[in-house]
Amino acid sequence: MKTTEIMAGLQAKYPGEKEYLQAVQEVLESIEDVYNEHPEFEAAKIVERIVEPDRIFTFRVTWIDDKGEVQVNTGYRIQFNSAIGPYKGGLRFHKAVTPSMLKFLGFEQTFKNALTTLPMGGAKGGSDFDPVGKSDAEIMRFCQAFMLELWNCIGPDQDIPAGDVGVGGREIGFLYGMYKKLAREYNTGVLTGKGSTWGGSILRPEATGFGALYFTSHLLAKAGKSIEGKKVAISGFGNVAWGAATKAVQLGAKVVAVSGPDGVCHIPAGITPEMIDYMLVLRASNKNVVAPMAEKFEGVQFIPGKKAWSVPCDIALPCAFQNELSEADARELKANGCWCCCEVSNMGCQPEAIHFFQNNGVLFAPGKAVNAGGVATSGLEMTQNASHISWSAEEVDSKLHFIMKNIHEQCVQFGTQPDGHVDYVKGANIAGFMKVARAMLEQGIV
Ligand code: GLU
Repeated sequence: MKTTEIMAGLQAKYPGEKEYLQAVQEVLESIEDVYNEHPEFEAAKIVERIVEPDRIFTFRVTWIDDKGEVQVNTGYRIQFNSAIGPYKGGLRFHKAVTPSMLKFLGFEQTFKNALTTLPMGGAKGGSDFDPVGKSDAEIMRFCQAFMLELWNCIGPDQDIPAGDVGVGGREIGFLYGMYKKLAREYNTGVLTGKGSTWGGSILRPEATGFGALYFTSHLLAKAGKSIEGKKVAISGFGNVAWGAATKAVQLGAKVVAVSGPDGVCHIPAGITPEMIDYMLVLRASNKNVVAPMAEKFEGVQFIPGKKAWSVPCDIALPCAFQNELSEADARELKANGCWCCCEVSNMGCQPEAIHFFQNNGVLFAPGKAVNAGGVATSGLEMTQNASHISWSAEEVDSKLHFIMKNIHEQCVQFGTQPDGHVDYVKGANIAGFMKVARAMLEQGIV
C-alpha cells in the first residue's frame, strides 16, 4: 500500500471532500509501514475497504418553523464500519454539515471506537439544520421530522446514534420520543446520551471532557509532569468544553480561557464553578455566543474575534470544531509558553499545526484517543440498558478512568519511537487500525 496512490484514487473519486480526504490521509500516513509488514492485509484489500463507508443514508427533512413557514433540510446517517460491533456514533446538527464532514467523522469514529476496548463499529450522522436562533419548539419539530426518516435505519443492536455538535440531552430526548412512536419498540438502548431518569448513564454528559482530562493526566505523567497549577486554555463552551473545564479545575488546573465563534473570554484568575455552570446556560440559549459570560461575571475579559489560542497557557485543549487550530495558532501558543496540546474536538488541529507541535517539542495527542471517553461511556450506557441496570457515578467514573488509561497505554505501545518518545498520532492510529483490520480479515471478503 502506498498512501500517495490510495489518496490519488480517493481524490479523483471524491473531489472536494476536503475533511474526509484529510482524515484518511492522516491515518494512512501513520499506518503505512505497519500495514506493509502484513501481506494478508494487502491481499484482502483492507485499506481500500476501510476507507469506504458500508452505506450512506441521505434523506430530506421537512418541518415547519414558528412563523408557519416550511423548512427543508438534508439528513444523513453514515454507517461506516461494523467489523467490531454495531454502528455507533453521534449526530451533528450544524449549518456546515456535508457528506464530507460526516464521512470524516464516521471514519475517525471507527478507529476511536476500536480504541475504547468496547465492541462498537463506527458511524456518524446529522443534518445541515442550524440550531442557532431556533426556539425549543422548532428544535423539537426538527428532531421529530429527522427521526421520521432515521428510525428505520437504526436499532439497539444495529446502529446507536448519540449526540455531537448541536445535539445534546434535549435533542436526544426529542429524538427518542419520536423513535418509540414509530418503531413501537421501547428499548432505550437505541440512543445514548439519554436523560438519567430514562436509561441515560450517569456521567455521560461529563464523559468526553472527563475522559480527555484523564488521558491528559496520563500523558503528562508519562512525560514526568502534572496538571496541577497549570494554566489551561479551552476553546468552545458546549458540553465537551464544560466537562473538560469541570475536571481540569477538579485536578487543580487553572482554566484561563473559554471561547465561542464571537471571541474569547480571558479569565486570568481561573474559571469558577459558577462560570462553569453558566456555560450550560449559554449552550441552552441557542445563541452560540460566549460574550455574555463577561457581562455576568467580574474577572472575565471578553476579546471579540480572538481565539482561545491567543491567551497564554501551558496546556491547550481544543474542544470546539474540526480544523479550529491552525499553524499560526500553534506558533502563537508556543510563543506564549504552551507546551502541551491535547485535541479534544474531532480533528481539531490542522495537519500543519500538528506537524509544528511535533517538530517543536510540544506534547500532542489526537482527538480519536483524547475524546474517546464520550463514546466509551455511551458504550457503558448500552451495557446498562441491555442488562436493565444503572451504575452509580463512582462505578461509571472508575470504568471511564480505566478505559482512558488503557487507551493511553495502547498509544504508548504502538507509538513509541526508536528514540523513546511517544508519537501519539501514530500510536492511536495504528492501535485502532490493527484491531479493525484484524476483525475484517477474520470475517472474510464482505
Ligand atoms: N459524538 C461523540 C464522538 O465524537 C460521541 C459519539 C457517541 O457517544 O456515540 O465520539
